Amino acid sequence: MVRLRVVDEDGRSSAQRGQDLHRARDRDEARANLAAVLTPLREAQRGIEAAIAKGHKPAPSEQMWTLLDRAYEALDTYLADLLNEAAIDPACGPRCSACCTDLPPILPIEALRMARSLRRQDQGQARLQRAVEQARAFRQVLLAHTGPQPKLDGTEPGYREAQLAWRRLGHPCPVLGDDGSCSAYEARPLSCRAHVHIEDPAHCEPDSPRFLIAERPPVWGHPRECEVELALAAISKLLELPQAPNLQWGLAGFI
Ligand code: SF4
Ligand code: SF4
Repeated sequence: MVRLRVVDEDGRSSAQRGQDLHRARDRDEARANLAAVLTPLREAQRGIEAAIAKGHKPAPSEQMWTLLDRAYEALDTYLADLLNEAAIDPACGPRCSACCTDLPPILPIEALRMARSLRRQDQGQARLQRAVEQARAFRQVLLAHTGPQPKLDGTEPGYREAQLAWRRLGHPCPVLGDDGSCSAYEARPLSCRAHVHIEDPAHCEPDSPRFLIAERPPVWGHPRECEVELALAAISKLLELPQAPNLQWGLAGFI
């Protein structure tokens, strides 16, 4: 059997790039950077647990938001360091937004954080309203691919097909600004932060022949990194926030 090797300008195969990322995340510095993400998340979790133990209704506090801001800032540092150490130069840049026609996965606390950020903008309410409309429209696409009882799970084949169909419709993310940049960049979810391409941005367009096979270096997904998602999910659960399969749906829950 002939195996095709995907090689970028730097001469590495995607497998080699993956190994370089793996080496980068095994350094003490990367472990410390990841700990800097997890520490504020765990502190936020303990703060909510303590409030609940005192009989308070579960609710986000200003202190929790400050801790989350710190965690996401540390997350950006962690990802930038990995890419730098693995010598991966993303094609992603300012106002590059072909990927912002997707339905990014989102954790409930991330959706609430983004809704909070949008509410502080002049256009925020309109963006939230657009999220509601898109969530409704995507539901129709989903039903067409899955039947009347869709599973809201991004790993389900029916959901994946519906997501691809949605992507081809080209609706810009409700958070995308008119200038092509994310209007809530600091509040974007983990899935947007870890979405990295190294090929020509034109390959991120659904009509590109490389759309489905373009290389996405595995910058996220190691079991140590999944601790971050688990901590965010734990905070979401403590606050009794509704689950959502994607950003549009998640924002629609907080309008
Ligand atoms: S994923 Fe593609 S479209 Fe999105 S920012 Fe990166 S290169 Fe641009
Ligand atoms: S949240 Fe921002 S980065 Fe993510 S898809 Fe929407 S506009 Fe793009």
